[in-house]
Amino acid sequence: RKPIIAIDGPAGAGKSTVTRRVAQELGLMYLDTGAMYRAITWLVLNSNINLEDEAAIAELVSQVNLELTPKGIKINGEDVTEAIRTLQVTAHVSAISAMESVRQALVKQQQSYGQKGGIVAEGRDIGTHVFPNAELKIFLTASVQERARRRLQDLIESGQGDITVNQLEQDIQLRDYRDSHRKFAPLQKATDAIEIITDGLTIEDVTAKIITLYRE
Ligand code: C5P
Repeated sequence: RKPIIAIDGPAGAGKSTVTRRVAQELGLMYLDTGAMYRAITWLVLNSNINLEDEAAIAELVSQVNLELTPKGIKINGEDVTEAIRTLQVTAHVSAISAMESVRQALVKQQQSYGQKGGIVAEGRDIGTHVFPNAELKIFLTASVQERARRRLQDLIESGQGDITVNQLEQDIQLRDYRDSHRKFAPLQKATDAIEIITDGLTIEDVTAKIITLYRE
């Protein structure tokens, strides 16, 4: 079996960029599980389903067609790569991803991608639930201040920079709290994961560190 690398951690720790780079350098597939939860959230927000109607959301998820493309993600044939990065989707994704039916369906699809190995997956529960036997598990974190600064940079780049660092710090703290206190598969460092605190480190530093750990 080809290797699986699991990269977990809270929002804004630098997971996406680093995971993409590690996958590229090692010639492995990149699996962004957050994008899958975001796409479901986008679909719910764009349907006339109530955000609290778990039964209706479960029904929607059971029929959904989620496709990871080399550049992004499609849901029911529609490319939502950019649409899933809005503040509105971000504000609701924790609630949707806390639903057991949603997690069950998405974890199953994630595990099917990993059947043959050869992937670098990022998320909140990869090392703990999705791929507990991953060859390498990394837990990436950074201070709330650093993560808010990075989020602001991303939002400015996508034309959504009309928000303060303070507001982003609050959003991040709220999302961390919800992600780590939910009932199913809460955000948690796997006991055998290696923690990397990314404050003051560049993307290149973190990527190199993970590749070194992988080769050891
Ligand atoms: O990584 P990203 O910020 O795109 O993830 C968005 C949200 O999706 C997280 O805040 C979390 O609520 C949820 N998520 C999850 N499990 C994963 C990946 C993401 O619950 N494996």
